[in-house]
Amino acid sequence: MSDVRKPGLGNPQETIAVLNKYQFTFQKKFGQNFLIDTHVLDKIIRAADITKDDFVLEIGPGIGTMTQYLAEAAGEVCAVEIDKNLIPILQDTLKDYDNVTVINNDILKVDIRKMADEKNQGRPIKVVANLPYYITTPIIMGLFENHVPVESITVMVQKEVADRMQVGPGTKDYGALSLAVQYYAEPYIVANVPPNCFMPRPKVGSAVIRLTRHSQPPVQVNNEKLMFQIIRASFNQRRKTLANSLKNYEGLSFDKEEIEQAIAACGFQPAIRGEALSLEEFAILSNVLDKRL
Ligand code: SAM
Repeated sequence: MSDVRKPGLGNPQETIAVLNKYQFTFQKKFGQNFLIDTHVLDKIIRAADITKDDFVLEIGPGIGTMTQYLAEAAGEVCAVEIDKNLIPILQDTLKDYDNVTVINNDILKVDIRKMADEKNQGRPIKVVANLPYYITTPIIMGLFENHVPVESITVMVQKEVADRMQVGPGTKDYGALSLAVQYYAEPYIVANVPPNCFMPRPKVGSAVIRLTRHSQPPVQVNNEKLMFQIIRASFNQRRKTLANSLKNYEGLSFDKEEIEQAIAACGFQPAIRGEALSLEEFAILSNVLDKRL
């Protein structure tokens, strides 16, 4: 790393200097908690395993702290920031980098698949971000469900959400997000990050998680849409039996008998709850029910 420039941002003094220079005021509605710890930044970049061959999408660059680190390591970086007040700041902090493009837009409105096609010839991109916590789930599910070619997603999220992404059945954190993430990717918690690494300090603990996309899903599912409807139904009323949850769910049209027969055909107890099923068991149930559609 000796030939790599050390970015100037990433510590409290520099961050405060930039914020003062532009009289920037934080907007709570945008989940603005800027990183001010170089060790955490180094850890994120290392975990994301970025090389000069990589095209990186950064979601929410803020004042460009992590963007500088990404620009040093990657071939090309595209950073999407919703807050127009940050755009002149980014033009300043990123002026020495010719491999960074900043887009002023809401990430949920950007066609990332098209971006990967146009800017990376459809090859898998890497997503790296200190995410705005209020939209963590839609961002991650959007990347997976829209079949964006991603190799990995390395992101700072709320600690509790990172836990939810990697647990299995039998824990209170297990839910639809755990199953969706694990269907598409291999989750790995890289580090826990305390509130004092951010400005302003968030009220919750944070964690960096890396999701490495599976080349093939770990289970064989004939009808993905149906499996995720069954999963949603199961956790919608998680204290009810699986049979009752599926019966009551609007998006599904199986009758009581079909559901009970399918549960029996899978070898599950009649009174089993959905929260007890593993990803593999949801796949088996979905394949049985799919035959009855
Ligand atoms: N990357 C910076 C850092 O680590 O210091 C800032 C991270 S801060 C937690 C989240 C950033 O996402 C903010 O800059 C915020 O303005 C931006 N943001 C919030 N909602 C967004 C959205 N829908 N689309 C794009 N950026 C968004």
